[in-house]
Amino acid sequence: MEETEVVVIGAGVAGLTAARLLAGAGRRVVVLEARDRIGGRVHTDRTDGLVTDLGGSWIHGVEDNAVADAVAAFGIRTVEFTVGGYQVDSRPIAYHGPDGRRLDAGAAARFAADVHTVDRDLVDEIERSAPDDSYRDVVARAVAAQGWDAERAERVREHLEHRSEEQYGVASDELAAHGLDDDTIAGDEVVFPDGYDALPAHLAAGLDVRLGHVVARVDHGDDGVVVTSSRGTVHADVVVVTVPVGVLQAGDLVLEPPLPGRHREALGRLRMNAFEKVVLRFPERFWDEDVYAIRQLGPAGHRWHSWYDLTRLDGVPTLLTFAAGPAARAIRGWSTEQVADSVLEQLRRLYGDAVGTPTSVLVTAWQDDPFARGSYAHMLPGSTTDDHDDLATPIAGRVHLAGEATWTLDPATVAGALYSGHRAAVAVLGHDVPIDRLWADTPAG
Ligand SMILES: Cc1cc2nc3c(=O)[nH]c(=O)nc-3n(C[C@H](O)[C@H](O)[C@H](O)COP(=O)(O)OP(=O)(O)OC[C@H]3O[C@@H](n4cnc5c(N)ncnc54)[C@H](O)[C@@H]3O)c2cc1C
Repeated sequence: MEETEVVVIGAGVAGLTAARLLAGAGRRVVVLEARDRIGGRVHTDRTDGLVTDLGGSWIHGVEDNAVADAVAAFGIRTVEFTVGGYQVDSRPIAYHGPDGRRLDAGAAARFAADVHTVDRDLVDEIERSAPDDSYRDVVARAVAAQGWDAERAERVREHLEHRSEEQYGVASDELAAHGLDDDTIAGDEVVFPDGYDALPAHLAAGLDVRLGHVVARVDHGDDGVVVTSSRGTVHADVVVVTVPVGVLQAGDLVLEPPLPGRHREALGRLRMNAFEKVVLRFPERFWDEDVYAIRQLGPAGHRWHSWYDLTRLDGVPTLLTFAAGPAARAIRGWSTEQVADSVLEQLRRLYGDAVGTPTSVLVTAWQDDPFARGSYAHMLPGSTTDDHDDLATPIAGRVHLAGEATWTLDPATVAGALYSGHRAAVAVLGHDVPIDRLWADTPAG
């Protein structure tokens, strides 16, 4: 059996971060990855030379963010696009009312002001919430407290429902009241004209990463860990497990002895979401100029309501929309053409015959991906924000869980994945290692 010091399972940002810091500190590290590529949920498509991030695409705020620091140090190009947090008015947005007509500036500003008013009151509502309350419960109370007429209240309630769907890929009655507590953005948001996958590529440089190794089992005890994959077994002192929580929940990767009660309970209160991207490229732009996004208010937008103008990335007229939460479940199994037809029908309500035929359409299927089982995890009602960090409590000094869902301050993000990988490396080493070693050192291969 092969011997090493550390096995890292998963070559996403969490796993590569842990592996790079550990290798940089002189540990012998083997990374086992099920797919035939690195990056996990950071994955860039380059069909026909056009760059599309199918997984993570935004840095949600570049201030005080190690991902932004790493990206700058690696020389990866970014473009400002501060509209990735379902903000109501951070940048110009073309709002269309329930009848499809564009709202004038005054009406859009009044709507945004209403959302801000409820957002301010939501903070206290969430603070006062009962352990089993959902995000929908607290929103309902905060909106009702305004005493607005039904139409005005409904527009704000609807915006916050879509926020739950777009930020966490879930209907708000299945999201904990505290499920969006982490939803703060410091500084501009940016996206990647050359693809976000440059980040995992830089992190992986010089590491021993083995693709096509599907890990099915981790046995751990006083003698160390034995990691069994589709290509054999490796013995190590410790293992860092970074597979998505959906993979653990499905039992696709078995730990023996199993996870302790505290970990099991925390795991049971998190759930992988349903959140898919639809990217449409057009021969020419037919939508409003000088806006970052287009939004449809009202019942007609129940499935498709927000489009993000990605034209700024490469000059090709491109719209990104999301099938988020119930919409993602609804389109499961649809062909690309069916999805495109459905989105285009909605766009025609706003722009009529000006809507052209797309030159390409990409639709993701993360919910059906066996190595992801969704796009990222959300908190179910009854969970606490600590559930994330609890998952990362080292087990018998041998097993360390990492990954986006194990980072309380910023779960569901590339940043959460990176910080969790840093924490795992520190736990394995038993002493601190500055996070900037990640981009300062090139480990010996
Ligand atoms: C559609 C979408 C949009 C997103 N948008 C954003 C965004 O704009 N900004 C942002 O910050 N974040 C975003 N995210 C979330 C972000 O991409 C993830 O939080 C982050 O990439 C997770 O990294 P990770 O290392 O924790 O997990 P992963 O990247 O999933 O890495 C885990 C690795 O484990 C591997 N694996 C799984 N099972 C096994 C097994 N049995 N054996 C061996 N290997 C296995 C997987 O193949 C994978 O490579 C988005 C994600 C998706 C899918």
